[in-house]
Amino acid sequence: MWRPALIVLQPTPFCNIACDYCYLRHRDDRTVMGEEVVSAIRDRIFPRIARDATPTVIWHAGEPTTVPIPWYRNAYNELRKTAPEATNFSLQSNGIGLGREWIQFAQQTGTQIGLSIDGPREFHDARRKTRNGKGTWSLAMQTLRELQQARIHPNVVTVLHPRSLGAVDPYFQFYRDNDISHVSFSIDESEGRHATSSFGAGDYTEAITGFLFGLMKRAYREGFPLHIKEVERIASILAGGELHNEQIGAWDVLVVAANGDVTTFSPEFMEVRSQAHRNFNFGNILTDDFDRIFSSALVARTEAEIRRGVDLCRARCRYFEVCGGGAPSNKMQENGSLESAETQFCRFSVQPAAEAFRSMIHWARQTPRDRFISSPRHFAEPRI
Ligand code: SF4
Repeated sequence: MWRPALIVLQPTPFCNIACDYCYLRHRDDRTVMGEEVVSAIRDRIFPRIARDATPTVIWHAGEPTTVPIPWYRNAYNELRKTAPEATNFSLQSNGIGLGREWIQFAQQTGTQIGLSIDGPREFHDARRKTRNGKGTWSLAMQTLRELQQARIHPNVVTVLHPRSLGAVDPYFQFYRDNDISHVSFSIDESEGRHATSSFGAGDYTEAITGFLFGLMKRAYREGFPLHIKEVERIASILAGGELHNEQIGAWDVLVVAANGDVTTFSPEFMEVRSQAHRNFNFGNILTDDFDRIFSSALVARTEAEIRRGVDLCRARCRYFEVCGGGAPSNKMQENGSLESAETQFCRFSVQPAAEAFRSMIHWARQTPRDRFISSPRHFAEPRI
């Protein structure tokens, strides 16, 4: 029986702001996922999932909150009819239009919220801008406060710039003073319409490692429970957890676009262009039989190429045991081939997280922990 880990549903490609590093090719397109697509997901996709599976369904793509709440109420009610009981719903937002009605919706449906905030104002406003060029930090922070007042503690996604790496203290103070305890870091990768990363061809592995290590040291000293997703993933694998890379097996990830197009492996495949892989568009749930999409020769060939890339990782990379072979979309975009290994994502995400964790373990062994243990802030707030 099918047990997908992640189902990305894209209610609209449209986004109401214009970040400098946005990789979406269709962020001006106001198409909204039609009722017929929602019905097809309800009737033809969700019933195939094992009843005891625990997939995460995430509303993501452009800015999901640009689609009105009644649309989500209807979609949520319809999808709940055939989704496995333990399905988690979540939403990734820029926080610009996420008001009280959204908070109520999140509370009523148990939908988890992820917010994109690039740290302190000067870093955020430099690149996350409205369509007429103004910074969006104040609006995103207002949403953060409203969520926190409702006892919803969002996961915050922060995209780093090379300038961020020398600003450990301002970033730490920002997370601590705004009670942001769960954060995930990425860099602006060369992807989709964003052709050039601000990290360019330089080697920032050590600087990013230092940034993460610096944040963890301050969090440890002050007893602030800062959970860094990339580091905690590695820590949990080293503690005996399962190494599972859902991007290397067909249909562990399913992405459905607003018009019903589907892809699998990396969610970012929706934005990657490759003639040899039909742009990773593996079919459309309105016009194609899902059994045929599932077992298509193109999906099988793509998976075989990805597996050969993972074999290269296994043979060449000392981080393989905590990585599992990375993201095929990055390999395609950066190396021009799925049958390849290291990318900028490895050097600037996986490897610094592993090295920062190693440094932290070494440092913490030599550093008294009494203040950390006795601090009440060690215990995180309940999360929905
Ligand atoms: S860090 Fe990069 S090269 Fe190493 S296993 Fe992961 S994807 Fe492969």
